[in-house]
Amino acid sequence: MCGVFGAVLPPGSAASAADVATLGLFALQHRGQESAGLAVSDGEQLMLYKDLGMISTVLDERRLPSLRGDLAIAHCRYSTTGSTVWENAQPTFRLGPRRALAIGHNGNLVNTRALLELLPGGRARLPASTDTELLTALLADEPAADTVDALRRVLPHVRGAYSLVVLDDRRVIGVRDPHGFRPLVLGRLRAAAETDGGLWSDDVATTGWVLASETTALDIVGAEMVRDVEPGEIVVLEQGRAPVSVRFADATPALCVFELIYFARPDSYMEGRNLYEARRKMGMQLAIEHPTDADLVMPVPDTGAPAAAGYAESSGLPYREGLVRNRYTGRTFIQPSQTLRHRGVTMKLNPLREVVRGKRLTVVDDSIVRGTTTKQIVDLLRRAGATEVHIRISAPPIYHPCFYGIDTQVETELIAATHTQDEIRDFIGADSLGYLSIRGVLAALDLPYDRFCFACFDGNYPEPVPYDAARRKFMLEEAVVAGG
Ligand code: SF4
Repeated sequence: MCGVFGAVLPPGSAASAADVATLGLFALQHRGQESAGLAVSDGEQLMLYKDLGMISTVLDERRLPSLRGDLAIAHCRYSTTGSTVWENAQPTFRLGPRRALAIGHNGNLVNTRALLELLPGGRARLPASTDTELLTALLADEPAADTVDALRRVLPHVRGAYSLVVLDDRRVIGVRDPHGFRPLVLGRLRAAAETDGGLWSDDVATTGWVLASETTALDIVGAEMVRDVEPGEIVVLEQGRAPVSVRFADATPALCVFELIYFARPDSYMEGRNLYEARRKMGMQLAIEHPTDADLVMPVPDTGAPAAAGYAESSGLPYREGLVRNRYTGRTFIQPSQTLRHRGVTMKLNPLREVVRGKRLTVVDDSIVRGTTTKQIVDLLRRAGATEVHIRISAPPIYHPCFYGIDTQVETELIAATHTQDEIRDFIGADSLGYLSIRGVLAALDLPYDRFCFACFDGNYPEPVPYDAARRKFMLEEAVVAGG
């Protein structure tokens, strides 16, 4: 999972596209914390800046003024193919015989090995080991005169998940794979108030356009949502023109349902649903499917909160916050010593003893992957004096790995794939355990199954995954491929 953003400002804007894209990217930081980057065009030349780290440290105000131009794309990374090294940060950049290109990619390709065979010179020509680097090289090499034509020729060979923002010298182009695994929305920069100097207006010739992984990023830059980029669609944004839509494949929609359950921000909208409300309803369904005899309902903060609120509302049990999250132990936190690392989840969560002591708790979280974090939370609450701990999960059990942009473990590391639910309950030390069903997720969303990917829950992969994709993450770092 990554965050992508693109911006085309009208000519003569007081703001720079770099400023707008960076601001938009800040709203997407939760989608990736390993690296951040920005590519801009002044209509003739592309410039790029990227580095490892959080957005605020990479794209700070000392660097942005030098990145001038009305067109920009931005990216924050969570790795699914390739290590966390500088070369793998995005946007990628490539100067080919016909064009210079920069790309920001959210998703993960499943036929990287086959695509590598299409690149003359193979792995030796790639400075980085990501599927995005390979895609950028293929597009830069493509002899078609125009970038959109190059996309239409290359994309039919590409399998897997890709929501892209592409920058050439005069356009920002949004692309979504035919399944639309990852979200991508088109927004329009609102007309500024007269008193603001009329920076943007409703006239197409002087309107700005943006693309973003989530609607919350439109809010932060003052853009209004126009629509989703459709699965199988290319949307071309150019100064002084209305967006142009080009279809490159039939749509077979399969949006990642985990985006709605957990990954995306609760203030974002997907499939016409506000995600806080969707998650609150999932919590209500969870209370119907797995009621508890408890004294209070509490979330695992922060992401369990909307579902816990729904659970409390539906069950009639009081809602309390019994765990406090330390917000400043993210990935930028310097690796702690071995002694501190043993403290595990206690570095992130601290129980409110006054709330939990002597109480029977229903604790709502959004997922269990390996089970080790949930086990530590149960232990923490018991040591703080809870008399019973009932775990409720607002998603179905994760039985299968994801190949479409979420770095879930190989099957053997997914606790639901190797243990029964009773065994999981015993492992985490809870008094009871209940998961929301797939049917319950759909009832909360009030949408049909065939709009979504549920593969990590039911093994029904919308896009066939080649067997060797299981070794996917470091595929382009392996010697056998490097020779290809
Ligand atoms: Fe989302 Fe799971 Fe499908 Fe991956 S396999 S895209 S996490 S629903």
